[in-house]
Amino acid sequence: MAATPAKKRIAYYHDDDIGAYSYTYVHPMKPHRIRMAHNLIVNYGLDKKMDVLRPERASPHSMTAFHTDEYINFLTTVTSDTLEELTGHGTRFLIGEDCPAFDGLFEFCSISAGGSISSARRLNDGQADIAINWAGGLHHAKKREASGFCYVNDIVLAILELLRFHARVLYIDIDIHHGDGVEEAFYTTDRVMTCSFHKFGDYFPGTGALGDQGIGKGKGYAINVPLRDGIEDESYHSMFKPIIQHLMDWYRPGAVILQCGADSLAEDKLGCFNLSMRGHAECVQFMKTFDVPLIVLGGGGYTIRNVARTWAYETGILAGVDMNEDLPFNDYIEYYGPAFKLDVPNNNMDNLNSPQYLESIKVTIMETLKQMPFAPSAPNMPVPREVRLEEDLDSDLELDTRISQKTRDAFTERYGDTLSDDEDDMPFLSPPPKVQRLNGNGHRHGRGRRKKVVPQNGFEEDTTAESDSDRPSKEPIKPKRTFFAANGPRPDLLTAIRSGALAPRANGQ
Ligand SMILES: [Zn+2]
Repeated sequence: MAATPAKKRIAYYHDDDIGAYSYTYVHPMKPHRIRMAHNLIVNYGLDKKMDVLRPERASPHSMTAFHTDEYINFLTTVTSDTLEELTGHGTRFLIGEDCPAFDGLFEFCSISAGGSISSARRLNDGQADIAINWAGGLHHAKKREASGFCYVNDIVLAILELLRFHARVLYIDIDIHHGDGVEEAFYTTDRVMTCSFHKFGDYFPGTGALGDQGIGKGKGYAINVPLRDGIEDESYHSMFKPIIQHLMDWYRPGAVILQCGADSLAEDKLGCFNLSMRGHAECVQFMKTFDVPLIVLGGGGYTIRNVARTWAYETGILAGVDMNEDLPFNDYIEYYGPAFKLDVPNNNMDNLNSPQYLESIKVTIMETLKQMPFAPSAPNMPVPREVRLEEDLDSDLELDTRISQKTRDAFTERYGDTLSDDEDDMPFLSPPPKVQRLNGNGHRHGRGRRKKVVPQNGFEEDTTAESDSDRPSKEPIKPKRTFFAANGPRPDLLTAIRSGALAPRANGQ
């Protein structure tokens, strides 16, 4: 393992507006948790150790580096009034109730994606060793469809940006759910290795079996670690560390993205793992020890007081700060009672992952990896087009017209010299958040499964060849009312591949 450099330059992306959006009152996904984490981070003084930056928002055009034009157009225009019509009565774009068309949806996506794209650009520019975007990590979003609370796949967009400068990128996912959207986007290329540790079996999204390893040129470059309920810290790291160490040594990525979904913590409202805060954060600590540019993203996490604790603690680990176990006073202190501690302990649930089961998985994965070539080179590598943020927008002018000098002064007084001189990054300033009102339209229906999924290669820019015209506009509608409970059929992608209906794209990507 490489020695830890004395000091890493950290770029921390945050836009406080993110906390004002609401998926609906009853929805388990609460963007408010990101604001809570940020408030803890500031009250621990971690902002003094990092470049605190407000990301440029991602433009619709930038999102089409991965998503289809028609899907992004839809996201920019949909309202509760037009939802039924634009989705073909719930048969495309937003299917089921997991992904509601809440007020401000596109702006929410542009903040989330803007932070991850900005993170990649910051690493590419050599201005940071580590970038953090807790508003990112929305790993289920597909090329033409929202899934599992995720609309725009900020991770795929960030990876595409990294691939402009790096021959190989490693994506690691410690959310309890399989990182299906990212895996699918890069399933046919060796330039991105995806590695997901997740609950498998009767669980959303249903993908991520041990034998799913990629196809074509990408065969062997998708790694899935299927786990069972109740895995605790020691068992988890008996898998995570040797597998990741091998990937770092053998695949030799130029950059790494770590998705830190916090629904793998004990006591998560939707999860069933048993990781403590420190066990979860050990993955972050482990990745910090490698001298490779690193992007750390959020993801799932539904017991929001524990999400905020964990992401604040992990920020502290990346910033190299020892944090007092007694929480500082903060704007959301009432959430953390009665103990008010910086801790998420394990509980006493059974660990259904026997040592034999874990060993057998590990052996299978390691045997496969040993057959892979060392640091596959990418001669004549295709360079994804540049991911543009708010093009046609002069950041400085925008800043001047939107934010008064008084607000700037207040910011400087509070945050000191943490402002960036980078023209690409707006400093973190918080205009008054918009109050997001919900429309209460909480009962939508969707198809239980997709008709067809094609390999969604992030390199592709062809958004015309795969129109949605193959989707029936009115097929029988099936209620789907439970969050993440649709432990759906085996992935259509794999079914299609096995049936020979789909072959890797002609360009071998
Ligand atoms: Zn999740």
